[in-house]
Amino acid sequence: MIIDTHQFGRMRAGAAYYLHSTQDALVETGTSLSAPYIIDALPDVALDYIFITHVHLDHAGGAGELARRYPHAKVVVHPRGARHLIDPTRLVESVRQATGDMFALYGEAIPIDGGRVHAAADGERFDLGDGIIIEAIYSPGHAPHHLCFFEPNERILFAGDAAGALRNGVLYCTTPPPSFDLEVSLETIERLRLLHPKEIFYTHFGRGGNADSLLLAYANLLKHWAEGIDARRGRMAPAELIDDVLADPRLVPSGFTEELRPELAMSVRGMLGYLERVAP
Ligand SMILES: [Zn+2]
Repeated sequence: MIIDTHQFGRMRAGAAYYLHSTQDALVETGTSLSAPYIIDALPDVALDYIFITHVHLDHAGGAGELARRYPHAKVVVHPRGARHLIDPTRLVESVRQATGDMFALYGEAIPIDGGRVHAAADGERFDLGDGIIIEAIYSPGHAPHHLCFFEPNERILFAGDAAGALRNGVLYCTTPPPSFDLEVSLETIERLRLLHPKEIFYTHFGRGGNADSLLLAYANLLKHWAEGIDARRGRMAPAELIDDVLADPRLVPSGFTEELRPELAMSVRGMLGYLERVAP
């Protein structure tokens, strides 16, 4: 079941997925401002697991609130993300820096008791019963501590931000600062293709069929995005560069609306940061 997290006060911008079996699980939490929507949707549920793809606040910001509301749930995260759930101070500060004016939309994050946080190994399997298995897949690139979750029987990939974002059937880039890495992202996409997923469940937003062509399309989009930004780099100041990229129909999807502008601008900044690191 998909739960709309009302990310940034919008519909169909952020998703959490509820999996019902012998053990009940949630994949993603949205921001702390999303927690009431999830609690409303799951009033009589005793969650056993909360799976987090990465600790960016639009994916994990609500984990603290939900851990409080669902006291049996283990919170599963990449080992490099665990400490940020236990003490979110540095994380919140880095989001404040990356998002600027948008920060208020992300909400705060409350700490989770270390005993509740489970650092997943690559390939670790969580058996929810009734043939539902969740496998943690290390998938760095968007962030070094990114996990995807794969359900091998239905061949569903919960991609977090590793496969970009899909809005009204149109893909767009999720390449934010401070640690987006193009090469590593492209390797991750190849690795995800080897899982032979049938469907991708995007955090932003919803289900996408024909997973392999979506993964390939995202790899191509990332390469175009990098080339388009690299070609402008050094020729214009960052603010001008962002406007120019967002006005280029070859780089910004046709379904682009003004509402996505802050996120896309952030993705331009993240790609610029990557390019500056590898080729100053
Ligand atoms: Zn995200």
